[in-house]
Amino acid sequence: MYVIVRLAATGFCTPVVSSLCTGRLSLSTMAEHSEQIVFDKPKVELHVHLDGAIRVQTILDVAKRRNITLPADTASEMAQHIVVHQPATLTEFLDKFSKYMHVVAGDREAIKRIAYEFVEDKAKEGVIYVEVRYSPHLLANTEVDPIPWNQEEGDVSPDDVVHLVNQGLSEGERAFKIKARSILCCMRHMPSWSMDVVELCKKYSQEGVVAIDLAGDESRNCEANPGHRMAYEEALHCGIHRTVHAGEVGPASVVKEAVEVLKAERIGHGYRTLEDQTLYKKLLALKMHFEVCPVSSKLTSACNADFTKHPVITLMKDKANYSLNTDDPLIFNSTLHLDYSIAQKYMGFTEEEFKRLNICAAKSSFLPEDEKKELLHTLYEAYGMIKTTAF
Ligand SMILES: [Zn+2]
Repeated sequence: MYVIVRLAATGFCTPVVSSLCTGRLSLSTMAEHSEQIVFDKPKVELHVHLDGAIRVQTILDVAKRRNITLPADTASEMAQHIVVHQPATLTEFLDKFSKYMHVVAGDREAIKRIAYEFVEDKAKEGVIYVEVRYSPHLLANTEVDPIPWNQEEGDVSPDDVVHLVNQGLSEGERAFKIKARSILCCMRHMPSWSMDVVELCKKYSQEGVVAIDLAGDESRNCEANPGHRMAYEEALHCGIHRTVHAGEVGPASVVKEAVEVLKAERIGHGYRTLEDQTLYKKLLALKMHFEVCPVSSKLTSACNADFTKHPVITLMKDKANYSLNTDDPLIFNSTLHLDYSIAQKYMGFTEEEFKRLNICAAKSSFLPEDEKKELLHTLYEAYGMIKTTAF
């Protein structure tokens, strides 16, 4: 597909993908693939959790400064406690967060630092636009009930967390010349936090917060937890964009609820949508965006461990609207390059498909229209899809 557009300065920088130096360690059984960069062009990432993308070294540094004892002293030993190597249960996966979240939560310097370093890591992967998500409550230690991770009460509220992350992201944007926006997560098991989350989305919509998300255990539906539905109604009312984790482990009915009740504009994962062909066809017709995370889907046991049977292959063949994402690169010891190389090696992805899915991601991003146009222009230019005209 070629498009005719006017060449203009875009404000997006195309970084050189120099290396995979993201501070992560080669422990996973899939790590050999991560050395391969199969799509060395600007990328867009829409589904990645800030608290699942922290550098191991940062956890060690912060623990040392705060006199917090960890089960290991070196990054490689600490990674052994955090990284999931083989397909795990949801409980095993969630347990990984409890190994380190108490180190960074409630610490102003650490919260700002992880946001800043996140932008650096994404720039090194060749990402030029990223939407990073997190629960402000899970990084706070006051004005949150219950206080998470067995922390003592402190003075960092969910509102402070959002402010600190915004600072870290915008400093990172200036330093590494890419664009980073954020999405605030409601947690399915904590419906009482959800109205706070939408209020924070509203308060910080001019400072980089672009959407609301719902994450966690999908067995807790919204019928039984009206707090989420009320928060999403408020988001819709106020023009806050909406995405929902659905159909990852939970059934297609959770996706249906996300679209019909929560008015989701994008679906996090959504693999099990394929089990309801009527719903799948409807979402295809609606051009619903699926935020697909291949490595994650294997290691959380959301999908068959055999990548050649992955649902994203159907999405690719149907020319669906979807993106490729890392989800929790710290816990999966992965980079975005690993997801792309697996898509190429096991799922038959081509360079053309990589370009197409990144254009889909840009079009489905939660940027305002003018910035979205600018991002698309940068991609078209980098992908050799611009024909200059003689006007
Ligand atoms: Zn996720």
